[in-house]
Order: sequence, then structure tokens, then C-alpha cells
Amino acid sequence: MSIEIKNLTFTYQEKTIFQRDALKNINLKIDDGEFVGILGASGSGKSTLMQHINGVIPSKNAVRVNGVSLGDKGVGSLDIAALVGLAFQYPEHQIFCDTVGEELAFGCHNLGFDEKKIHKLTYEYLNKVGLDESYLLRSPFELSGGEKRRVVLASIFAMDTPILLLDEPTVGLDIRGKRELTSVIKNLNSVEAKTILWVGHDLAEIITCVKRLIVLSQGEIVLDGKVEDVLKEEALLANCGITLPQKSSLVEDLEEKFNLSSKGAEGEAVLRFFINGFSKDGVK
Ligand code: ADP
Ligand code: MG
Repeated sequence: MSIEIKNLTFTYQEKTIFQRDALKNINLKIDDGEFVGILGASGSGKSTLMQHINGVIPSKNAVRVNGVSLGDKGVGSLDIAALVGLAFQYPEHQIFCDTVGEELAFGCHNLGFDEKKIHKLTYEYLNKVGLDESYLLRSPFELSGGEKRRVVLASIFAMDTPILLLDEPTVGLDIRGKRELTSVIKNLNSVEAKTILWVGHDLAEIITCVKRLIVLSQGEIVLDGKVEDVLKEEALLANCGITLPQKSSLVEDLEEKFNLSSKGAEGEAVLRFFINGFSKDGVK
């Protein structure tokens, strides 16, 4: 399921004093099954770009998903919604049902899934995002920020779209929650072959998942490539407000204390253990 964007330019509130150029001549192709990180400082256009891909902001023919576009005859927003799920940056912007259960089923109903499928998918993703059945009758508005985030993500995942746009999906979660959600998202790409665009500003978190990074600055794409190539552009990244993850001082202290750098492969393995912990096969 590919995404193709050609010469996409977008201005908010054009011809008013609030006019704001948000996207400038964006050209982009994302292939089936890719896992891409979208980075950039606040205001660089990341959320606006996601909303164009999912059609919340219509863009006629500039955006094509799997060859179709909202500008095509007979293609409506539901057709695009069945292909592209968008988890908004602010979960409050997509919560409107009285109960978590209704919220989870809402998108699936819109896509015309039968009750049995809706039941299966909503329970599956409720559990996957770390919530249980006790939430189903609760009001989503009364949940904590992190719980709202989980509900919104579960409702988007349950729609089972081949493409997922996740706009800062782990903001508001604690460290354990971030780790759990990251693992669910990784599986959606590696096991369920979903094409995923993960918008974020925490490079350290994103590079544990994605293979390709796209960096936006003031509405333009300034970097687009494999993670290892983009990370070499330290100065350009810093200019865009993105700093490379630093080794934690604890790791540095341990490295020095045990003189690990002089111990070759063995020292490196111990260091990796300090950073990653044990995998089921021992030291990673
Ligand atoms: P990011 O997600 O990277 O923080 P956004 O896409 O939200 O960036 O915003 C891009 C630019 O568009 C910013 O200058 C922002 O102030 C402006 N903008 C975003 N949403 C609106 C809106 N609804 N009305 C007017 N300007 C907006
Ligand atoms: Mg944003």
C-alpha cells in the first residue's frame, strides 16, 4: 500500500492576517510495508502532512494512496479512511463517544464491519494497548491522558487499515507505557505488515523502530533517507532542533568504571547489556 505525494503545498487561513504556510512543495513516496519516522521541530508541518495523507485536510490530487486520491471521481473520505488510520497528536481531538466500548467500535462501524468482527478487533486491541474489559463502560473523557492515548490508539488499530499514521503516539505515557506501546507498534509493522509513519520529536525512541527518517523544517523536507545516513547529518539535524541521543551518563560511568572500552568484544557485550538488558537468548 503505497503513498505518493506530489508538489503538495498548503497554507492555513489563506488571504487572512492569520495566513500560515504549513507545507511547501512536498514530494514523497512511501512503499508498502515501510516503517518511517517523521521528525521536525514544533510547527514544522508534521501534523499537517499527516492530515493530508488521511484526507482530514483534502488535497485533491496531490496525495495518492494505493493509486487513489480524494480528487478522483467516486472516491470519498470513507474510502481513504479504510486505507489510512490516523491517530491524532491530541487524543482529545478524536474522542467523542460516551463509553470506551463505543469509542473503540466507532471507526469499525463507519467502515461497515459486522458486529462479530468489531467485537473481536476491539477486544484484541483493548488488551494489546494494556487496558482491560473494566474500561469498556467508562467514559473516555474521565480517563487520564495516558489512558485516553491508549483508547485512541486501540480504536485506530482496530480499524485494521493497511496504513497507520501515528502522530506522537507515546506522548503522555510513562516509561513502561511507552515501551509497551512501542512493542505493539513494532509488531504491527513486522508481523502484520502495516505501513507505518511515526511522527515524533524523540529521536532516541523513534530510531529503535524505523528504517527510514524524514525530517521537516518550516514545511519542507530537508532530509529523507535511511536512519544511518540521516543520523550522519548532525549539523543539519541540530539546525532543525533535533539532537542526537546521548549515551546516558550512567552508561558512561559504568564504561569507565569497568574499563570496558579496553576489553574488546566482551566489554562491548557487557555495555550492550547495560543499555538493553537481557534478551531471551542472554546478552543482546
Ligand atoms: P507540527 O505538527 O510539526 O508541530 P503543524 O503541522 O501542527 O506542525 O503546524 C505547521 C504550521 O501550521 C505551524 O506554523 C502552525 O502554527 C500552523 N498551523 C497548524 N494548525 C493550524 C490551524 N488550524 N490554523 C492555522 N495555522 C495552523
Ligand atoms: Mg504536530
